[in-house]
Formats: sequence, C-alpha cells, structure tokens
Amino acid sequence: MITIAEARTRVLAASRPLGTERVPIDEAHDRVLAADVTATGDVPPFPCSAMDGYAIVAGDPGRTLIVVGESRAGTPSATPLGDGSAIRISTGGAIPDGATAVIPQENVEVRDGTIITRVEVMAGDHLRGAGEDMRSGETVLRAGMTLGAAELGAAVSAGAAGVTVYRRPRVQVLCTGDELRAPGEPLGPGEIHNSNAPMLDALAATEGAMAGTARRLPDDRQATEAGLASALDAADVVIVSGGVSVGPHDHVKPALAGLGVEEVFWRVALQPGKPTWFGRRGGVLVFGLPGNPVSAVVTFSLFVRPALAALQGRTEEPLLEPEAVLGAAVRRNPSREQAVRVRLERRNGTLVAIPNGPQGSHIVTSLLGADALAFVPAGEGELEAGAAVALERLPR
Ligand code: AMP
Ligand code: MG
Repeated sequence: MITIAEARTRVLAASRPLGTERVPIDEAHDRVLAADVTATGDVPPFPCSAMDGYAIVAGDPGRTLIVVGESRAGTPSATPLGDGSAIRISTGGAIPDGATAVIPQENVEVRDGTIITRVEVMAGDHLRGAGEDMRSGETVLRAGMTLGAAELGAAVSAGAAGVTVYRRPRVQVLCTGDELRAPGEPLGPGEIHNSNAPMLDALAATEGAMAGTARRLPDDRQATEAGLASALDAADVVIVSGGVSVGPHDHVKPALAGLGVEEVFWRVALQPGKPTWFGRRGGVLVFGLPGNPVSAVVTFSLFVRPALAALQGRTEEPLLEPEAVLGAAVRRNPSREQAVRVRLERRNGTLVAIPNGPQGSHIVTSLLGADALAFVPAGEGELEAGAAVALERLPR
C-alpha cells in the first residue's frame, strides 16, 4: 500500500495537459485558458461620459449654455463643442472635442434650448478616460485561469472573438457488477441500483470533462475486457467502478493487464478507498475505483479530480481554510489514513469539522450535505474531538 500523497504524485506525473484548441467565446465558459489574452485596444476605446447630462467646458455655476447637439451611446455628436455651448450626452456617449467635463442633468436647469449650470464643474468630472479599464497590449488574462463569467467579459472587452483553451478530457465511466440495475428498475433478489453511474458522470462533468453516459459491465472476464477495450479506444480517461478487489468475480485487473494497460499502483493506505487502482496505456489514464459508492466518490475526489484538472492545465486554488478542528472523536484506522466526510461549522470563530453521520463506505447519505473531507491519520485509539485536521474539497 502506498500513501495518499504518493498515489497522487504518481497520478500527476502521468497527467500532462492534453492539446489546445481555439473556441469562440460563447463556448468558452468554464474552459481553462491555454494562452494569455491581451487587449487589442484601449478599453474604453474613447473618453466617454459616466452620467446622463451635458458635455461642457468646466467652470463656475450660473452659466447659460446653448445646447448644440447630442452624443448618444453608439452615436457620437457630429458637432464639436464651441464656446458657450453644451452637448447633450448619455452614459457611455463619446465626449465631444472641446469638452472637459460632464454635468449631470440633475445639476442643470433646462430652458428654451439652453441649460443653466447649478453647480461648479471641475475638469474631468464624470468622464471616463480611454484605457481606464485596459490598456492596448496589456495582458488581461493568463494561461491556466478557468474562464468564469468575469473572465469571459474581460476577454470580450479586450477584443477577443475566441480563446485558446485546453482540450477537455473525454471520460468514459464503466460500472462493473452483475447486481447493478438502472435507475427506477425493479430490483430482483440481491440486486441494487447503480448509484455510482450518475455520481461519477456528474463529478467528471463538474471537473470539465466530456463524460459520455456510464456503461454497465457484467462480472464476466470477456465482457469486462470488451467494454474496457472500446473505452480505451475512445477516451482520454477511463474510470471503472467495482471489480478491482481480489474476489473471484473481480475481473478488472486481469482484463486491463490483458489489454496492455500498465499498472502504476494498486491499493492505497486510505479508508475508504483501499483497492484503488491506477494505470495507463499510452496517453490514456485508467482509474479502477472501489465499487462502494462512498469509496468511489472519495477516490474520485482524491485521485481522478487532480488528474482531470492537470489534463486541462488547471492549477487548483488551495482552500481558503485548509484546516479545522474535529467536532467529534474518530476511531483511527491502524494502517490507513481516513478521509472523513464532514460538515463545516464555525463556532466562536473556529472552523469545526463534524463527521457527517455514519462513515461506512456504503452509506451514500453520508455524502449529502458534506462540505469537505477531513483527514484522520492512521494510528491507535481515537483522534479526539478538538484535534486539528487537514481539509480538502469534496466536489459535488
Ligand atoms: P466491488 O468493488 O465490485 O467488490 O463492490 C463493492 C460494493 O460496492 C458491493 O457491495 C457492490 O454491490 C457495491 N457497488 C459496486 N458497484 C456499484 C455501483 N455502481 N453502484 C452502487 N453500488 C455498487
Ligand atoms: Mg463487484
């Protein structure tokens, strides 16, 4: 058995970014940028008004100015500003030549084609300078960033029609088990519903992968090998659940060996998740996750998720608060580190990690409302309430 950290190091060593592709902005949400974005021009491109009002020359209150034109957003004034005049202007309208400020409409009196200024106006009042947001040539977004709403807006403002992003990994989930039934299907004796399929598909999608629909494989050597063979040909990452232990009906390991998938590790000193298997064939990564639903989710979180991130060139932000104190004692496992599903609560300023109900690897409900994984190191006896524990994200 290797440690969680060692397993993760080996996974990351095998997870190099996939290629890059150019996508239009409207397909770029949540993608990871593979090349910096620089502004193609100043933003705003021209000096403009921050208010609805009048473009004027700065000066004292009490002046009467003739309104000689209008500058609307999208339609600049054809006339420049002359002496003793004003130009009606909307928010975002271009500042006409000759104007040095904008006076908001609530600060003027309108009378017969003129305005009377009611307040003193300083040069630059209510003006937005060209390039205040971005300077032409400035680097606005850096490779490695995930494109959220703000990044998409900034890219478009910067003049980009598209962005260069990392390719999304193609993921195929395979769930092994004769006992598995589709959602809602009536259960015969000894059968259960395939809860791993939607969870693993959803987790892969959350991580930015293109996950097809999970397929089910019976506990049969030939069928297992055939299912794995087609997944290996079509995907960048194959995730198999179940069948990686040592029972007589666990066919995944021998089938993978038969298909030339090289084992990188099998078994991690982790509870839940001991039988986790990882290997590769060429550039294709294969994860054999334990069948128990909680184990599958925990091992996805610890090992598959970092791989999917690395394949997309994504650098994960550390948790704002990577530590908490344990809210209740947890019996240690003598030989394996435990990843406990916890709810996080703040009590008198301290972040407390409360084990989220029974921790058996078959208890799917222990995942409901869980905020994070808390790590309890291997050892004897209990880790007492109040002890510090490291936290990690638990994706949804
Ligand atoms: P295995 O790893 O195949 O030995 O499975 C361990 C346990 O997880 C058994 O109780 C299985 O019935 C259960 N299990 C395996 N696959 C799934 C699945 N896709 N959904 C729900 N439970 C599963
Ligand atoms: Mg099984």
